[in-house]
Amino acid sequence: MSLVYFASARVSKWKFEDSMPGKLDRLLDEINLSRFFEKNEWVAIKTHFGSEGAHRVVRPIFLRRIVEKIKSIGAKPFITDTVRIKGLDYLEVANQNGINHLSVGAPVVLADGLYGNDNILVKAGDILGEIAVATLIYDVPAMVVCSHVKGHINAGYGGAIKNLAMGAVSGTHRHCGWKCGRGAMHTIGEGKLIWDEEKCTFCYQCSEICPLDCIEFKDNRFNYDDDKCWRCGRCARVCPEGGLTLPGDDILFMKSLAEAAKAVLSTFKKSKVVYINFLTEIQPECDCMPAADVPVIQDKGILISDDIVAIEQATIDLLLKEPPLPSSLAADQKIQQGDDVLFSLHKRPYIIQIEEAERLGLGKRQYKLREIK
Ligand code: SF4
Ligand code: SF4
Repeated sequence: MSLVYFASARVSKWKFEDSMPGKLDRLLDEINLSRFFEKNEWVAIKTHFGSEGAHRVVRPIFLRRIVEKIKSIGAKPFITDTVRIKGLDYLEVANQNGINHLSVGAPVVLADGLYGNDNILVKAGDILGEIAVATLIYDVPAMVVCSHVKGHINAGYGGAIKNLAMGAVSGTHRHCGWKCGRGAMHTIGEGKLIWDEEKCTFCYQCSEICPLDCIEFKDNRFNYDDDKCWRCGRCARVCPEGGLTLPGDDILFMKSLAEAAKAVLSTFKKSKVVYINFLTEIQPECDCMPAADVPVIQDKGILISDDIVAIEQATIDLLLKEPPLPSSLAADQKIQQGDDVLFSLHKRPYIIQIEEAERLGLGKRQYKLREIK
């Protein structure tokens, strides 16, 4: 049975040790990073940089504590994520969200290069075949997967599995394009966008959000560059009228998340990856959206483990006990105390990701929770 360490977000004593950064220090001491990382070894801290309008990410103050702890054992950390929008713009997003060398105490680099096509094909499984893992993640010997927990329109829940599956894989591959990238998870078949002229109000939100400038409207007709499109689905997601659809299958999507996470982890030796889940600012949607809505569940705390399945299960179990927050999307949707807030929001059986990850041998859903006080 795997061990998951937990620190509550609640403060009972007015001392640094009882603050969240202080508790994070103690969690890192409990798991003992020197069991995983060696002197002079490079260690990736994989997080999500957010977006221009999505400020609810793992805060730099926490990244700094992790960096300092890794440095204290003589290893060499850096912060990384894959390209979601144009690479230079994404680095600027990181900077705007306070994630830069000065604040976190370590270099902040893109894992798949400025163009998001610096990656290596890695065997995944029956659904995906091969998937384009960011070269930096492929090469680095050790990693801390630092995940901001939230809801997600297709996955229902986003934590460590999604952080690796979507976040350590590129949008495109130099030769096989989106079919070996994140789009292979997002869509099915050829993944052609479907535009509904009847519903379209020509608000142009879809063209504004496209990270690759694929979409244009000529003579009130929707056009997009199918060859260039990564099948990220952002355009369909922001359409307020349901006028744009990217074909998908949510069950397949969740299973493919687990498959891609397995592919990413296959590039590491045993006991070289540590997971930290931040149950903070739990917003209804992904950190890549153009805005961050108010949290739907109160801050719960931080979890740390070396078992990705156990930490995801423990995260879900903690969130299940939490009531929906007032004045949030959960309240708008009349979600009640005792309901599963994330499931009720998106109606997606998110547990499939975790079950599938266990089935693929990534870890165990049975765990022991040890709370640090
Ligand atoms: S799915 Fe939409 S937003 Fe994403 S790259 Fe294609 S056209 Fe652009
Ligand atoms: S976001 Fe939807 S409604 Fe707006 S222009 Fe695009 S397809 Fe039309």
